[in-house]
Amino acid sequence: MIRVTVWNEYWHEKNNEDVAKIYPEGIHKAIAEFLGKEEDIEVRTATLDDPECGLTEEVLWNTDVLIWWGHCCHPMVPDEVAERVQNEVLKGMGMIFLHSAHHSKPFKRLMGTTCNLGWRESGDLERIWKINAGHPITQGIDHFFELEHEETYAEPFGIPEPDEVLFMGWFSGGELFRAGCTFHRENGRIFYFQPGHETFPTFYNENVQTVIKNAVRWAAPSFRSNILTCPFVEKANKE
Ligand code: ZN
Repeated sequence: MIRVTVWNEYWHEKNNEDVAKIYPEGIHKAIAEFLGKEEDIEVRTATLDDPECGLTEEVLWNTDVLIWWGHCCHPMVPDEVAERVQNEVLKGMGMIFLHSAHHSKPFKRLMGTTCNLGWRESGDLERIWKINAGHPITQGIDHFFELEHEETYAEPFGIPEPDEVLFMGWFSGGELFRAGCTFHRENGRIFYFQPGHETFPTFYNENVQTVIKNAVRWAAPSFRSNILTCPFVEKANKE
């Protein structure tokens, strides 16, 4: 079983009626629901209001893949929690960052760059093009799929050169965006996926769900270290 934790700041759903209508129990529950139907996936959720953001050492150690949705509450995530998440990725935990998680503390720490991007809250149509047909994350996706309304994200996206760009987003306003990118950080695999603005029902879209399910299986660790210190230094210290 792949053990997934879906983390959501869970603020918009409690403070904006339009968002609550789309995600009455929160974006995290909507994601957990479709993932929970998979036979090889075991899912739990955590939110900002939980003690330690629901991301204790124990929870993270028992998480194979962490999914992150955040937006306006990025600064409320304590630095210790962000560092803990970063360290678990370095040890081998898989991580999926969705939409506005591009400015979350764990993503910025793992990228080491501004992660800035251009955006318009336009509700444009987005056409998401598959540009790597052989990758595990793009399986089951046609040449492209469309989301009737999404928030427009635009290049330049201030990330380090991705290891792979799997999807390109085109918006009806003309913008282009690297909508699906992979990164490796030490033992951990990271996938960034752009769709998922809170005022649109993006996480009910079958293609979006397929990509996230594929990404969970791709990001699940093959190897997980239980230490961050250099094993050679440790050995030398003992001798
Ligand atoms: Zn958004």
